[in-house]
Amino acid sequence: MWVIFVGSQSVEKTIKYAFFNYLSENNEKPSINDVVENLTSILKNELSIHHVVFYLYNKKLDYLTPLDNRDLPSKSLPHSFIYGEVFQHEGTSFIPIMQKDRLIGVIELADINENLTYNELTEIAKACSTFYSYCMNLVSVTQNDQKYEELYRITEKFHSLMDKDDVLVELITTLQGLYSDLIFYLFLSHDNENHRNLPIKELGFDHQDGNELAMEAYVTGKVTTSNQDEANQRTIYSPLKGKQGVYGVLQIVANNGVELSDENKNFIVMLANTAGTALENAQLYDQSKRLIKDLQLINETSHRLNKNLRLTDTMTYMSSRIMESFDADEVGFFYINPDGTIQIFPGSTKFFSSDELQIYLDYIKGKLEKELEGLFIGDISTYLSGAEYSSIMAVPMVQSDSLKGCALVMHKNPYHFSFDMFKLLQSLIHHSTLALTNSLLREELETLVKTDHLTQLHSRNHMNNRIEKSIKVDRQGTFVLIDIDNFKMVNDTYGHQIGDDVLIQVANIIRNNIREQDIGARWGGEELAIYLPHVDLEAGIAIAERIVTRVREDTNPAITVSCGVSYWNAENQYNFDQLFKKADNALYEAKSLGKDQVIVQSDTE
Ligand code: GH3
Ligand code: MG
Ligand code: MG
Repeated sequence: MWVIFVGSQSVEKTIKYAFFNYLSENNEKPSINDVVENLTSILKNELSIHHVVFYLYNKKLDYLTPLDNRDLPSKSLPHSFIYGEVFQHEGTSFIPIMQKDRLIGVIELADINENLTYNELTEIAKACSTFYSYCMNLVSVTQNDQKYEELYRITEKFHSLMDKDDVLVELITTLQGLYSDLIFYLFLSHDNENHRNLPIKELGFDHQDGNELAMEAYVTGKVTTSNQDEANQRTIYSPLKGKQGVYGVLQIVANNGVELSDENKNFIVMLANTAGTALENAQLYDQSKRLIKDLQLINETSHRLNKNLRLTDTMTYMSSRIMESFDADEVGFFYINPDGTIQIFPGSTKFFSSDELQIYLDYIKGKLEKELEGLFIGDISTYLSGAEYSSIMAVPMVQSDSLKGCALVMHKNPYHFSFDMFKLLQSLIHHSTLALTNSLLREELETLVKTDHLTQLHSRNHMNNRIEKSIKVDRQGTFVLIDIDNFKMVNDTYGHQIGDDVLIQVANIIRNNIREQDIGARWGGEELAIYLPHVDLEAGIAIAERIVTRVREDTNPAITVSCGVSYWNAENQYNFDQLFKKADNALYEAKSLGKDQVIVQSDTE
């Protein structure tokens, strides 16, 4: 730019010109220090002096603090200083910097060579004030620009983050970078885990310092502020608010009387809300991921249940999927028999066959009958003292409105399972109850076919199969055919009901006198039979004798039985038909010899 001087210029005009020049040539965004530095250096040049100091005026303390020359002490305003007017004292001039009638600062000018009139100094003061105001507007516009650029950047970043901790770390580091004189904390509810050294405080209902205001901000979603305390500390709580809820609270602590302007406060609140929205997004993302996993679990389980009807396989599969999905210590299923007794399903963990289970069962069973939705207990030890497992989820298996059984999932630590897990377990059990009861029915049907309904002994068909198998694979075995003596008379004397009862009594005596691997069966009518695999003839006779004695002594009304005993081994090589025939013949002989006795097969027949 070309400037042509015409004649001599007044000092005040050259200063204005210098200011104008500076502003037209500097397009950079200034800082407050840039402004003051330029102001003083222009004055130094134009007035040809060395001593120019810019003092900022602190209204509260009524003090002048040197801004660019920190070696100088602060000082009070000169005694006779009049606001807004130039003040001259012993060769030093003080010119006020005013902004809208407010005293912002004072510039001290010493050893001025030129003879400046009071009016000229007043004009210079006005020029300085205008320059300063103009520059400060630029400074604040610049600061705002920077902040909003930062807000834009962080918002964009937030929306790319899918992890809650990432969002929180970004929030805190941005704030700490922008406001180094403030301290920031995060209040989060206890289900948040802190992995990143974030300044996290727990949001609880206990009355710690400041926690009440934090809680208020959390509950109302509004900013709360503490009064300035004796330590000159002021605290602001800004909720991390999304569209659907509040996810935590940002605590802003201003120490040593640091003032937080409304503008800055609004900015921080805005940032906290942006973080809230980002947290909400991250949470929704987590939720949808979990929901998909849950659906997969239900889908796979239903598929598997429909494919496979064997109860043991079904239950073992369910059990292992539940262990894995819920990180459980124990998983068990029990079935409630029509008579109220409890039967543990296969596939349940070992704990379910131990005696310790009883205290939990007693507690849960009573509750489940009333609470068909199930039980979700964070810490059962408050109800059951000494309980080893604290976290309990119990979901009933309900079919046609009646309680069929229950799934029980346990963990030693209290509050181990989340409510979402409980809902998932409910849905899993609801989906599988039908398949479970189906395979249960199938298995019941099988035992029904294998068992005689009245005596609960095996069916004749089942016994035949077992004998045939045993003859193929074992070395020897003994067969005992038992017939109740004069049973017709029992029926005639006492009626069929008592007759049935006598039959049950004899069946029980048989059951009590044989081992697990022996087979007791109802052969037909009032004839019963025992097959003893691996047992030799001598031992077989002893067992038959014992049964005859027990029946004679223990039945009521007292009755007797007759037994025919047959025996096979590698030597005689009897087949199934021969074995039966021999026993039947022996029994016939026992009857004809007077009943109430044991007769052994004759090898000569
Ligand atoms: P024996 O000493 O010769 O065996 O005389 P018995 O009276 O037992 O004679 P028999 O074997 O001919 O009669 C069997 C009777 O047992 C006929 C039938 O009424 C009765 N009976 C068969 N099955 C049942 C049953 O399930 N319940 C009852 N109460 N009676 C039965
Ligand atoms: Mg008979
Ligand atoms: Mg008989």
